[in-house]
Amino acid sequence: MISQDSGIALDHAVPHAVGAETVISMEKVSKWYGTMQVLADIDLKVRKGERIVICGPSGSGKSTTIRCINRLEPYQKGRIVVGGIDLGADARNVKAVRAEVGMVFQQFNLFPHLTVLENCMLAPMKVRGTGKAEAEATAMKYLSRVRIPEHARKYPAQLSGGQQQRVAIARALCMTPGIMLFDEPTSALDPEMVKEVLDTMIGLAEEGMTMLCVTHEMGFARAVADRVLFMDRGEIVEQAPPEEFFMNPKHARLRDFLGQVL
Ligand code: ADP
Ligand code: MG
Repeated sequence: MISQDSGIALDHAVPHAVGAETVISMEKVSKWYGTMQVLADIDLKVRKGERIVICGPSGSGKSTTIRCINRLEPYQKGRIVVGGIDLGADARNVKAVRAEVGMVFQQFNLFPHLTVLENCMLAPMKVRGTGKAEAEATAMKYLSRVRIPEHARKYPAQLSGGQQQRVAIARALCMTPGIMLFDEPTSALDPEMVKEVLDTMIGLAEEGMTMLCVTHEMGFARAVADRVLFMDRGEIVEQAPPEEFFMNPKHARLRDFLGQVL
């Protein structure tokens, strides 16, 4: 399960553009399912333009962490502020946060009965009240950005996994989010499709998008991440810039993990 690094070597490090402003702040966030604690005092601050990669064994709380950031999951303790909006304070804030945060899942989660174009137009029209013509123009712009405008009239099932995942990225971008969350976006893909999705994500990074990516694509982490986080048993056990993270892991659990993945 954790040996999913495709070994794709990325040929260049993607340059930095990290601002001073904190756009995601998690303070001592804890979460339980029943009596089982799945997040334990998570502290995480992400600055504008920063790219964070989260890795760790299955069940360590990676998905839960990023799902708490856009309130797909409630949490019981601590505080999360996203783009200046306090997630805990008021349920009405959830909508504002979701508009600011785009999310891409392992299973692309496209609506099967809608065309690619309609998938991309739906949220802007429903959530934002954007008119049809404008929503379509925006959708085509982002489908071009992920290099599949020619598939706009097709249905998801007519596309490859890599193409569907690029549609999912375009769909998220249509809401013009300031932050993008990725939860193992390449894990469900056949190996030959991993690179096209990683390339799309690298393109976003180059444009200065703030990104939190759960992935075991260590080549991506090396090339793109400002910081790599290792989670285990609901905690952030270690975090460091990629060189240090991979060359000089301090915690025994991280050394074991890297031994399995690399
Ligand atoms: P990861 O993404 O690192 O694999 P998750 O965040 O999905 O881990 O899960 C963390 C822990 O929470 C795991 O032990 C998992 O079994 C548990 N968990 C996740 N979702 C639920 C749920 N809906 N109900 C109960 N337990 C859950
Ligand atoms: Mg997960």
